[in-house]
Amino acid sequence: MSSFAGLPSIRWSLRGYDEEGNEAWLIRSIAGKLYRCPGCHGDIPIGTEHTVVQYVMRLGGTEHHHWHRQCAEEMLFPDLRELKRVPANASARSKLEARGRKPSGRRRR
Ligand SMILES: [Zn+2]
Repeated sequence: MSSFAGLPSIRWSLRGYDEEGNEAWLIRSIAGKLYRCPGCHGDIPIGTEHTVVQYVMRLGGTEHHHWHRQCAEEMLFPDLRELKRVPANASARSKLEARGRKPSGRRRR
């Protein structure tokens, strides 16, 4: 059982780093359309609570994927380093996209 059970939530997102040093932000979301989970390739139906994984690349740029909560927890969490809880309002998409406009060496932490 992960110590991050139940997260991300409305109040808390998670942030960690992948093996290449890219930031990975895990954000709770509600599906506004049908998505396909990259973990299990199953559907995430409209209206489903799920986890958005937003990467902010070390060299700049962003990309995101929609995961089932459980798939993210089982397949993604174990591969992320320094995973920690951050207030959800720190993970607004506009803020993360702004972070992605600078390489990580020039970013504030
Ligand atoms: Zn899945």
